Amino acid sequence: MRGYVRLLFGDAERSQASTALPAGARTGCLTDQRLSQGKRRELFTHTVWALEPIGVVHVPAIERASQRLQRGFLAKDVREHGAGMDYAPSAPMAEPFSDILCPALAELSSYTPVAGDYAVRLDANEAPELLSAAAKQRLGEAAATLTWERYPDATSSQLRQALAAHSGVSAEEVLVGDGSDEIITMLLSAFSRARDRSGSPVIMTTTPSFVMYRMSARVRGQRVLEVPLDTSWDLALESMLRGIEHAPPNLIFIATPNNPTGNFADRERLEHLIQAASGSLVVIDEAYIPYSDRDHLDLYRRYENVAIMRTLSKIGFAALRVGWLIARPSLLAEIDKVRLPYNMNAPAQLLGALAVTELAPEIRRIVSYVVTERERLSSGLAALPGVTVTPSQANFLWFRCERPASELFEGLKARGVLVRSFHQRGGRLANQLRVTVGTGEENDRFLSCLRELT
Ligand code: PMP
Repeated sequence: MRGYVRLLFGDAERSQASTALPAGARTGCLTDQRLSQGKRRELFTHTVWALEPIGVVHVPAIERASQRLQRGFLAKDVREHGAGMDYAPSAPMAEPFSDILCPALAELSSYTPVAGDYAVRLDANEAPELLSAAAKQRLGEAAATLTWERYPDATSSQLRQALAAHSGVSAEEVLVGDGSDEIITMLLSAFSRARDRSGSPVIMTTTPSFVMYRMSARVRGQRVLEVPLDTSWDLALESMLRGIEHAPPNLIFIATPNNPTGNFADRERLEHLIQAASGSLVVIDEAYIPYSDRDHLDLYRRYENVAIMRTLSKIGFAALRVGWLIARPSLLAEIDKVRLPYNMNAPAQLLGALAVTELAPEIRRIVSYVVTERERLSSGLAALPGVTVTPSQANFLWFRCERPASELFEGLKARGVLVRSFHQRGGRLANQLRVTVGTGEENDRFLSCLRELT
């Protein structure tokens, strides 16, 4: 089905526009009759030329159309959850609930890693399987002492204590989550007050970056300003400042080192952004910081509007799902109100604490192995014809190749090596691949397969 819908915006008596709806979109809920009196009045009386009234309707097709119209309004390099950048194609929504399901679901797809058995899996930025047999035995013994019949400690006190000591902060400054993914959702729920009449709060992030900031915001009906990184994959400061002016974000997520580009954000730009966004919480996502030569705790200490997010997932304990936020206790007390009861299961609490205390030498060994391998892999990659590697502070490498990424990705896959490609997003990502640093043998296998393809 292909239909037309009228967009009413600004002073609706004067300005109207029409736009085509994509196949499968439903128009029923957009008719005047289906809008409540209040909403209709809001649509008609809103006199600001900013399309916010469209937000009340909350239909992806309309939102997308409004972005197209708004593009002239925004600087061209600031995109408001830009369709075409990296969205999965929208699918018709499940009947009979299409009218009551969250509209953003139509523009999202599930987070599903590539399934199947691959001899070499270098697609998810996990640490290679290098835990010692002794460490595995210790984890098993500890797990045997758990009380399975009881709920876990609701405040995860031991785990928070251990993570705080590991990070050099106090336990009162630590909130734990089921991976940093859950921390992101808690932040979004807590910082959800809209600043304008659109009713939707705004978050800002960069692109390409970790997709869960955007996805988790969109399913909460929040608006997302994605600012493309500059040509060196660094923060495009001017554009970010324009974005802050256009729609002040409640939260700004900056992954540094960034995923998938692996590089650090320039310190001066980051600090400038923090200063300019004094009314926003800047969340510095340090998921890959164990592989870097410095961190951002000094920024957290110096600026009230900074929080730091970390995880055990990249340093050998992805299976536990433990992430944490470092923030001021008064703020954590508020965020803690949206945390689900018993969010951290007992094995994650016990074994997560063990990982960063007794097993800390294991983590150090794995990290130093990976850093050495990263440099070797980076030189091996750079020696291949037409390959350019971005210097990495993380446990993965981001590289450009002359051949389309889709062909290399498929060629590697056919040879049993799985890496990460973002070619569906097109543009400058069409020739980029991300490879996680694995064991020496895995890296060699990856390099020799790639050599066959370049
Ligand atoms: N932040 C970044 C930048 C990431 O790349 C990832 C994992 N891909 C996460 C957070 C999620 O980490 P966790 O496993 O702790 O949910």
